[in-house]
Amino acid sequence: MPQGRRADIVRVLIVEDDPSLGEALSEGLRLQGFGPVWVRTGLDGLAAAPDADVVLLDLGLPDLDGLEVCRRIRAVSDVSVIMLSARGDELDRVLGLEAGADDYLVKPFSSRELVARLHGLERRRDRAELAGQSQPPAALTSSASVTGNPSTEVRLGTLTLDGRTRTVAIAGRPVELTHKEFDLLAALLADPGAVCRREDLMSEVWDSHWFGSTKTLNVHVASLRAKLGDPGWIETVRGVGFRAAAAP
Ligand code: CA
Repeated sequence: MPQGRRADIVRVLIVEDDPSLGEALSEGLRLQGFGPVWVRTGLDGLAAAPDADVVLLDLGLPDLDGLEVCRRIRAVSDVSVIMLSARGDELDRVLGLEAGADDYLVKPFSSRELVARLHGLERRRDRAELAGQSQPPAALTSSASVTGNPSTEVRLGTLTLDGRTRTVAIAGRPVELTHKEFDLLAALLADPGAVCRREDLMSEVWDSHWFGSTKTLNVHVASLRAKLGDPGWIETVRGVGFRAAAAP
């Protein structure tokens, strides 16, 4: 398998009070070669999180709200967190991501889907490590120097954005975006791989007198990720903003 994988996920902490789901997750992950540890309360989850590579965190727990658990984990640790919830609406997704979750799975989900997300996290951690070594992302090419309002074509991996026709495609397949979603993606791709601060994105895409909630930005990032088909295209840089990255 891949050479030099540094970000293998092995220790998976499951924080889930539903016994049948907790058991099924433990069993499924063990069969896939992971080392699951299952606890049933938020407090037990907080105690065990520092030893985990990734935390699968149920939103509805008996003692603490899952979002609160996520925030407390985030305050002390960079461990990856995947929120598990029966509530799938967009507000919940945004709240989960605002609380510092890396990803989100809506119940019911298959173990195949879960394992795919875990591997997705591994890839993103690999890329983050590469970025930390200040090497340029491997799949990054830009056909022109562009400003925040590109008039030319920008490529990032299989993603193409054409500023003249305001069209976006992935591997040649068109992606339908709203006006704001396109502007947001264009702003992120103005300097692919660079971190864009929230404030800058909001003033660039909305207007310079924007004093509203950052929820608007989060909602647009969430819908953009959904339309691009992989959350990995837009990485959250905790406490700062976002960065465009070549998704697999
Ligand atoms: Ca629950």
